[in-house]
Amino acid sequence: MGVQATGAGGAAAATAWPLWLAVICVTLLGVAGVVFWRQRQRGRQLRQRLHSATTQIDTLRSRDSLTGLLTRAEIETVLDEAVLACERGTRRLSLLVVALDNFRPVNDGYGMRVGDAVLAQVGSRLSACVGDKPQAARLAGDEFLLLIEGGLESAGQAAQKVLLAVQQPLVVEGLELTLTASVGIAVYPEHGSRPKLMSHAALAMRSVKLGGGAAYAHFDPTMAVDMREQAELLRDLRTAVERGQLMLYYQPKIDARSLQITGAEALLRWQHPQRGMVSPAVFIPLAERHGLIARIGGWVIEEACRQAAEWRAQGLRMRVAVNLSGHQMRQDDLVDQIEQSIRRHDIRPERLTVEITESVAMENTAHTRDAFERLRRAGLHVSIDDFGTGHSSLASLRRLPAAELKIDRAFVTDLATSAEARGIAQAIVQMAHTLDRRVVAEGVENETQRDLLVAMGCDELQGYLFAKPMTPTSLALWAEDDGSTGHGVFRPSLFGPTQPAPLDM
Ligand code: C2E
Ligand code: CA
Ligand code: CA
Repeated sequence: MGVQATGAGGAAAATAWPLWLAVICVTLLGVAGVVFWRQRQRGRQLRQRLHSATTQIDTLRSRDSLTGLLTRAEIETVLDEAVLACERGTRRLSLLVVALDNFRPVNDGYGMRVGDAVLAQVGSRLSACVGDKPQAARLAGDEFLLLIEGGLESAGQAAQKVLLAVQQPLVVEGLELTLTASVGIAVYPEHGSRPKLMSHAALAMRSVKLGGGAAYAHFDPTMAVDMREQAELLRDLRTAVERGQLMLYYQPKIDARSLQITGAEALLRWQHPQRGMVSPAVFIPLAERHGLIARIGGWVIEEACRQAAEWRAQGLRMRVAVNLSGHQMRQDDLVDQIEQSIRRHDIRPERLTVEITESVAMENTAHTRDAFERLRRAGLHVSIDDFGTGHSSLASLRRLPAAELKIDRAFVTDLATSAEARGIAQAIVQMAHTLDRRVVAEGVENETQRDLLVAMGCDELQGYLFAKPMTPTSLALWAEDDGSTGHGVFRPSLFGPTQPAPLDM
C-alpha cells in the first residue's frame, strides 16, 4: 500500500512536473508566437512604410518642390517617350520654353518669399494650360517647359494661352503684380532632333526676350548664329532708321520683247558703320521677329514714293515696286500708311507695285484677305513674289487682286538644266495669262535663260543679265544710257494691259 501510496504519490509527482512544464512551455510558445507574429506584422508595416516613403521620395524627386510641376530630369524622360511615340506614328510634338520677363525685380524688390509664391502661382497656371497630363516642368529659376501634342499651329495657340495666363494679375501677400512671359517653340521633327529640341526652343525664347518679351516665336535656323551677335545687330538695327543707315537700291524690270525698262524694284540695304553692307536676308527676319518691321517697312514705302516723285521730276517714268513682309500684311494701318505716302508724293496708286510672297498671299487668313481687299480698293498694283514655291491653285489665284506673278528665281536658275523647271515656268506663264495677269521672271543671269523665258511668253525680265540692284542715281544714269540697248536717250517705259495709266505721273 505504502509502496502503492508511495508509488501513486510518486506517479502523481512525476505527472505534476510535466504538466507544469507543459503550461510554461505552452505559455512561452504562445508568447513567442505572439512576439513572432507581432514582429512579422511590424516587419510588414515597416516594409509598407518603406515602400510608400520610397514612392514619396520618387515623387518628390520627380516634382519640383515649389510648383509641384515635373522636374527637369523627369520631363526629359517624358520627352524621350513622347519622341518615340511620334516616331512610331505620324503625330507631332511641340516644346514651349516659357520664361518670365520681369521676375528678377520681383525677387529683388519684394524678397524670395513673394518670388516663390509668384513662381508657384505661375506654375499652376501653366499646368492648367496643358490639361490633366503632367506635361509641364520647371527647368530652373523662372523658366518652364511645356510639352503639347501637335505642330506649329497647336503650339502657337498654346503659346497664346500661356501669354494670356501669365499676364493675369497675381495677388501675393496683398500685392498685385503683373508679369509677362517670353515663349520659344520647337516642333518635333521639323525644328531639330531629340537632343537639339530643348535648346532650340530656349533659343527661340531668348530671341523673343531680346526683342522685348511678351510674345512667342518658333525656332528658326538663323537663330542658331551667335546670340550675342544677333543682340548687337538688333541693337544697331533699332537706331538704323534714325541714323540714316538704311537705303534703297533699285533693280530694273525689263519688258521681255522691247527690252525697255518698265519699272524698278526697291531692295533694302543697311550700310552698317562697322560691318559694311548687311543683306536684307539677314536683317529683315530679325526686324520681323522683334517688331521693327512696321517702322522699317514704313520707311521703305515713304522713301520709294519720294524716289518715284524725284525720278518723275527728272523725266524718268516707271513703276516702283516695294516688298511687303507677312508681318506688314497683318498690320492694321498698312494700307493707310501706303495711301498717305502716295498722296504726300502725288504718286498714282497703280504706279506703285507691292510685292507679296506667294506663301503670305495664300495664307487666306482674315488679316490677309482684308489686307488684299484694301490694297485692291486703294488701286495699287499687286505682284505675287517667289511664285511657284507655294501651293497656289488656279482657284485661289483668281481670288487675289494681283496683276502680276513673279516666277521664283529657283526655276529660272534651273531652266537650262531641268525639264521640270521649264515645265513649271511654262505652266506659270500659261496660268497667269489665262487669268489675264502679267508674268515677271526674276534672277535672269544669262542669255539662254532669257531666250527660253521670252519663248515661253514671259512679259518682263529682271536679273543680273540686265542690271544688278543699284543706287537711284546709278539707275537714272543707266536708264538714260538705256543699258539694254546702248541707245543714248532714255525711252519712255512700256506699260502693258495691266498698266493702263498714261505716262504723266
Ligand atoms: P526678293 O524680293 O525675291 O528679291 C530678289 C533678290 O534676288 C534680291 O536680293 C536681288 O538682289 C536678288 N537678285 C536679283 N537678280 C538676281 C540674279 O540675277 N541673280 C541672283 N543670284 N540674285 C538676283 P536681295 O536684295 O538680297 O533681297 C533679298 C530679299 O530680301 C528679297 O527677295 C526680299 O524678300 C527681301 N527684301 C529686300 N528688300 C526688302 C524690303 O524693303 N522689305 C521687305 N519686307 N523685304 C525686302
Ligand atoms: Ca521681290
Ligand atoms: Ca523674289
